[in-house]
Amino acid sequence: MNLFNLTGKVAVVTGGNGGIGLGMAEGIASLGANLVIAGRNVDKAGPALATLRALGVKAEFVSADVTVKAQCQGLIDAAERLFGRVDILVNNAGTSIRKMPQDFTEEEWHQVMDTNLTSAFLCSQSAYHAMKKVGGGKMINIGSMMSLFGAPYATPYASSKGGIVQMTRALATAWAKDNIQVNAVLPGWIDTDLTKRARQQVSGLHESVEKRTPEGRWGVPRDMSGVAAFLASEASNFVTGTAIPVDGGFSIGM
Ligand code: NDP
Repeated sequence: MNLFNLTGKVAVVTGGNGGIGLGMAEGIASLGANLVIAGRNVDKAGPALATLRALGVKAEFVSADVTVKAQCQGLIDAAERLFGRVDILVNNAGTSIRKMPQDFTEEEWHQVMDTNLTSAFLCSQSAYHAMKKVGGGKMINIGSMMSLFGAPYATPYASSKGGIVQMTRALATAWAKDNIQVNAVLPGWIDTDLTKRARQQVSGLHESVEKRTPEGRWGVPRDMSGVAAFLASEASNFVTGTAIPVDGGFSIGM
């Protein structure tokens, strides 16, 4: 029995062209699945594809804005065209705008909610039909410490990431009978483009994260590889609807 073999499987990772998405894609690729990574920035795709192909799998980039329903469907269609099937979806694309709640425009609210939450719903809807065709699948949604906590500068972000946890539970109950497991991952503070901007905008953030995290450090994208491998593989076949913190202990400290 090899619970950690994804040979012949196909994974789609939104925002897989960098940061946490690439870290998760590496974990899945290391078990043998072929990968489709999606995003808007083609320039970041080349190095990401090289990283994945170096692991011995096939990998392609599909340009997609996942806030647009037709582009979510186009992404899943493209993965089926390229590799014949879709078994795994990682809803990782995300963004943040940091302001006090009273200062957000309606457009900014929608930009964060659409990128972080609505996109995950739309891609999941499209992937559901592809997964049904192959007898089941795995969906992994990316939440945040803001799925658990609040922060003054993070109203739409925390709302979207709290929503990810509840959407995960709802989808898990809906699609269990189709052999689709739906889980969320709640990363701690990980060093990526997104948090480089956060550290510029939130004074003292770098040090406060180091201080609160029992491991005493920020995470790196590869810290997310193992949980992606677990949730994408047969090892997690009786795990569904859960939200797993991967945070070096940030969420259990005082
Ligand atoms: P990055 O900014 O490095 O990654 C965000 C990714 O999302 C990029 O690859 C980007 O690709 C993609 N993306 C954004 N908007 C869209 C869109 N409309 N359509 C398609 N792709 C899009 O940041 P992270 O790696 O840090 O973030 C990844 C996820 O992890 C996000 O959901 C974030 O909220 C979450 N997270 C991050 C934490 C951290 O500490 N870093 C902590 C907790 C959660 P492109 O630019 O090509 O469109």
